[in-house]
Amino acid sequence: MVKGTPSFGKMNKGWTHIRCPRCGRHAYNPVKGYCAACGWGRSKRIRRYSWQNKKVNKVRIR
Ligand SMILES: [Zn+2]
Repeated sequence: MVKGTPSFGKMNKGWTHIRCPRCGRHAYNPVKGYCAACGWGRSKRIRRYSWQNKKVNKVRIR
């Protein structure tokens, strides 16, 4: 019975992720020290995976 209104009370304990300086997404984890979206702080290369974009007829859509 913890999915609705009672668990929303735990949503004010600060941020896990802040805005990432490299990709601008709200995915940088200051505790772990890297961005979950682009891998900033973890690797020099930008985190990219082939499965992150949907492909139609073997052509990637954005
Ligand atoms: Zn990032």
